[in-house]
Amino acid sequence: MHIGDTVVVRKAGEIIPEVVRALPELRAVDAVPCRLPTHCPECHTPVVQPAGEAVTRCPNPICPAVVRGQIEHWASRDALAIEGLGEKLVRQLVAQNLVRSPSDLYRLDRPTLMALERMGAKSVENLLGAIAHSKQQPWARVLYGLGIRHVGRTVARQLTTVFDSWQTLASTPPAAIATVPGIGPEIAQAVAVWFADPHHQGEMRALEQLGLAVHGETPTPKLGPLAGKTLVLTGTLPTLTRDEAIAGLRRRGAKSPATSAKKPTLWWREMPPAANSPRLNNWAFPSWTKPACSITSPHRRELAAPSPSCGSLRNREERARG
Ligand SMILES: [Zn+2]
Repeated sequence: MHIGDTVVVRKAGEIIPEVVRALPELRAVDAVPCRLPTHCPECHTPVVQPAGEAVTRCPNPICPAVVRGQIEHWASRDALAIEGLGEKLVRQLVAQNLVRSPSDLYRLDRPTLMALERMGAKSVENLLGAIAHSKQQPWARVLYGLGIRHVGRTVARQLTTVFDSWQTLASTPPAAIATVPGIGPEIAQAVAVWFADPHHQGEMRALEQLGLAVHGETPTPKLGPLAGKTLVLTGTLPTLTRDEAIAGLRRRGAKSPATSAKKPTLWWREMPPAANSPRLNNWAFPSWTKPACSITSPHRRELAAPSPSCGSLRNREERARG
């Protein structure tokens, strides 16, 4: 193939046509042959061409170009939909080493963003709001946003209807993943390889701690000691962050405190009400004399003594994982 070649194309897939062959009889005598880069133009790592694929890729996971693509995909409309996190801003964040993975976005603060080019108080405010809002996105969008090879929107949705958490997905062998309708062996293999990577597992734990939906909402209606309860959280806990508490409560069947508009049916008695919370002071809460369940943070700090019902739930979860 030479630059300026006349080629034969055919319709392939949805949009992008496939080049079938060049027509050398129509080639100019001084045409320059095309040369694919042997090294990544950004980080100079030798590129790889996976078997059976037309594209070459940079295999370096910390290549700035690779990280930028990953963050742009994470923020895109069909993934976590973070408005205002465009290409130029991602370029700055990655170049300054402020963002190396999606979880880093949730650790950005106002002073850091204010120091960036073309970022005023208002745009910083809007961006932080959009990043915080993206924590409400469901598990299917999070899975899609991870950018695992072959996992598009439809595949992500399909996988999340069967696998209600990243841990279940990570502990399932590829052959079993491939039994899900619409999931072929190639996709199953890509998913299994991705989740087996210790760096990726660390990222999933980080996202979980930051309060992102790495679990489905499916167990909510019937399972868990808090099934059917709507909880409200206020004040602070000495041993657990708010996001850890919310994630733990959701997994035990409680309706999301963040999405509940109605009067809560229970409240977390270990959390004293905030001093000026008139909305809460107007409601009478049933007293909750013994803990209905315990939530242990990923750092193994115990919040409350486990009750028998919660203990059995935990055992079930552990069995499912093991
Ligand atoms: Zn590279």
